[in-house]
Amino acid sequence: MGGPRVSNPIDALPIRDELRGQSPYGAPQLDVPVRLNTNENPYPLPDALVARIAERVADAARHLNRYPDRDAVELRTKLAEYLTRTSGFELTTRQVWAANGSNEVLQQLLQAFGGPGRSALGFDPSYSMHALIARGTGTAWISGTRRDDYAIELDHALAQIAEHRPHVVFLCSPNNPTGTALEGSVVEAVYDAAQTARPSLVVVDEAYVEFSHRSSLLGLLDGRPNLVVSRTMSKAFGAAGLRLGYLAADPAVVDAVQLVRLPYHLSSVTQATALACLEHTDTLLGYVAELKRQRDRIVAELTGMGCEVTASDANFVQFGRFADTRAVWQALLDRGVLVRDNGVPGMLRVTAGTEEENAAFLDAMRAVLKEIT
Ligand SMILES: *Cc1c(COP(=O)(O)O)cnc(C)c1O
Repeated sequence: MGGPRVSNPIDALPIRDELRGQSPYGAPQLDVPVRLNTNENPYPLPDALVARIAERVADAARHLNRYPDRDAVELRTKLAEYLTRTSGFELTTRQVWAANGSNEVLQQLLQAFGGPGRSALGFDPSYSMHALIARGTGTAWISGTRRDDYAIELDHALAQIAEHRPHVVFLCSPNNPTGTALEGSVVEAVYDAAQTARPSLVVVDEAYVEFSHRSSLLGLLDGRPNLVVSRTMSKAFGAAGLRLGYLAADPAVVDAVQLVRLPYHLSSVTQATALACLEHTDTLLGYVAELKRQRDRIVAELTGMGCEVTASDANFVQFGRFADTRAVWQALLDRGVLVRDNGVPGMLRVTAGTEEENAAFLDAMRAVLKEIT
């Protein structure tokens, strides 16, 4: 025994140096009446879909003695059909890949295109998991910057790419936590710059695209073999508990992630459940329309209260500007409303919930603003 006294028992382990002193990702999972902190869909799956899941899973259960379809061909085919139907751009099974949440998709991409000696660049504030997955795969993370209004300033973005020559570039549209969406022309210019710097992979995270005023950037895949669009069933589909994410890209990118994915990574139960959800996309997208109305209501009411509100294309709203964000976060929590502090100075983020949840949030905000002014 012996050795120096350590406060964190992890640090006593022979762990990788870059993980020392780090803390795991995670929004607090607190048991409060109104939880609006993780951009979940507030609507439970409809009964007809629950019944269909039970049916499909029962069917899968009869074959659980066997490994699942390693390449998830049926699921990828249905995902390609969904993307084609909703975006108007023809996508094939070979252009689609699925994994346990888009986080796993992103991890597989970084395992294949990042890794030790390589780097990835994103424009912060953005989805903090991009940096964390980079770190977990040994990829150096370069934190690029945005304008004060959270838009990506194109000239500055291109200069950052030229300077750092990253192997992977992350874009996020609509961006989490700001809610801002990207114009196709920005993605095209970033892509061109990233190819000039060294050919590099450009990943557009479209986790919230179903909530956007803008259409998907899938149309840009044509003629851009190093472009990837990632998607998830966690938000618009209301299936965060399912853990199903997917990507669309050139078939060669799909072949590349198969070099690093664990065999049989997507369980038969997961595949069966996701397939059932894809039979009910019309109902699920109906909830999205209601959530967009709720989002716009939150924007309007917060603006009416005198808050600074970032224009949102997602199912959440970034708002402020507070001298003490932590105090506002706590005051809302004291009133039973959990929102998110993403560490963006002066700003908090609230997810659009049900009409009643949003009313509770807005009432709490009115009370809190009275208190602090
Ligand atoms: C919520 C979110 C995801 C979803 O991740 P899953 O692993 O699919 O649940 C991906 N990207 C962004 C930007 C998100 O906010």
